[in-house]
Amino acid sequence: MSVDAGHRTLVGVGVGRGLVVGPVAKAYPSPVIPGGGGGDPEQLEAAFDQVAASLGDRAAAATGALAEVLAATAQMAADPALRSEARQRVAAGETPAEAVDRAIARFVDMFTAAGGALAERVTDLRSVRDRVVAVLLGLDEPGVPPLSEPSVVVAADLAPADTATLDVRLVLAIVTERGGPTGHTAIIAGQLGIPCVVRTTGAMDLAPGAQVAVDAVAGTVTLDPGPDIREQARARRAAAVALESDTGPGATADGHAVKLMANIGTAKDAERVSLLPTEGVGLFRTEVLYLGRASAPSHAEQASVYGQVLRAFEGGKVVVRTLDAGADKPLPFVTQSGEENPALGVRGYRLVRSHPELLDTQLAALAEAQAATGTTPWVMAPMVTTPAEARAFATRARAAGLTLVGVMIEVPAAALRAQEILAEVDFVSVGTNDLAQYTMATDRLRGELADLLDPWQPAVLDLVDTTARAGLQARKPVGVCGESASDPLLALVLVGMGVTSLSMSVGAIPAVRYALRHHTSAECATMAAAALAAGSAAEGRSAVVALLHEDARETLGV
Ligand code: PEP
Ligand code: MG
Repeated sequence: MSVDAGHRTLVGVGVGRGLVVGPVAKAYPSPVIPGGGGGDPEQLEAAFDQVAASLGDRAAAATGALAEVLAATAQMAADPALRSEARQRVAAGETPAEAVDRAIARFVDMFTAAGGALAERVTDLRSVRDRVVAVLLGLDEPGVPPLSEPSVVVAADLAPADTATLDVRLVLAIVTERGGPTGHTAIIAGQLGIPCVVRTTGAMDLAPGAQVAVDAVAGTVTLDPGPDIREQARARRAAAVALESDTGPGATADGHAVKLMANIGTAKDAERVSLLPTEGVGLFRTEVLYLGRASAPSHAEQASVYGQVLRAFEGGKVVVRTLDAGADKPLPFVTQSGEENPALGVRGYRLVRSHPELLDTQLAALAEAQAATGTTPWVMAPMVTTPAEARAFATRARAAGLTLVGVMIEVPAAALRAQEILAEVDFVSVGTNDLAQYTMATDRLRGELADLLDPWQPAVLDLVDTTARAGLQARKPVGVCGESASDPLLALVLVGMGVTSLSMSVGAIPAVRYALRHHTSAECATMAAAALAAGSAAEGRSAVVALLHEDARETLGV
């Protein structure tokens, strides 16, 4: 929608739960290379060095996921292959600014073509390009200007390096024209609890200083918001404070317990999350430890990391997922590069066919961490398709000395045969991100197909319901650890089906806890029936909204 018509609203993809109002602060754009290029060939290496050093300093000053992504961006600026290509281009007659621009453009193309986690790094690559070119041309470093008042930061895209320079106390929200809900901007905004709207068409047409309302739930940016929206923002803030004041265990209004747990990727995450009111870890994505490496981490390194995670939740519940490489998480030393359909290829548990030693090392390291900490981990395999695979995994895990063994239900075949799978293992956890992808035959990375990928799709819910019923029958736990668990409305539906635990990014827990606390098990079951009976995702959601208690509708902002 246009930004100069009356009551203008831009639409993007929201991340988080906030609704805030404030003035726009626009990020400095990328440097434009003048005709004929520019820069001194002698300064090429020094420009890369300067940018690598400045990003490295910022990484050292930052913490958590931010520090990790900044360090990774600094590494890109130091990458010998990138520098060598730029040098060769200068030697062939290009100006340094052009050479850097074109060399990085080629890397961007390669990363984009590779897809998945590599494609998510192109924002970082472009950030390195902008910074090195700015140094070569003697311009200010591009990025966000220093903020003097609480502001809504608007940018074409934000690299981690940009977010690192922000005084987060003055950032009300972040709005970007590009990026995606699983990109770095969204992840870091989520970590910092800043409402964010990405893929917002027309965001860069917003004028600096203009008043906007950013609604992370609706995924909207409204220019010149009226008193009604400002009042809603006040109410949402008060609701958020109220939501966070309840720190008890997850349960419905009639006291039916539902564990509310966190998804993590690193030992640092575990330490941070263990200080917050959660009931453990429902998904530890161990592949994060393997990403960006030339070979697998050693048994000793893994045992140490798993030990740190178990220690952070001493005696509590930690669900460790074995390596989920392939498709959107390629690993150079494991995955087959020539696969035509990597999402349907040798990924997740299927890697045991070609690399059994990877799984066995991981299980042995986890068993060692169990012995060292005295905390029993729950271990599960990703992308299991048949009961025979579930049995084979359970046999391997038990042989390694692990006693709580499960599998993920992410493939329709596994959901349809959940009863037979549950006969082989102690628990299952539904990965609705992949289950939706495979049920709806829709690539989870294709933003433009998000309507098909919607976890409210009745066909996806049918498969979750089949799995939950199998769990009730077998009297074994059925968790959900895909993104759908973080939607408070969908959480009610899942619990109504019989799901016993929900795992999500830690910031989503208060709203889910609140939704459960304000509805009985019987009401959840009615909501589940309504969502399953709906003709479409949108109809299902509306039916559940209509069944919500009035005060919950207001507090949750739906
Ligand atoms: C899922 O597929 O829902 C899931 C939790 O696993 P991942 O997102 O890591 O593939
Ligand atoms: Mg998955």
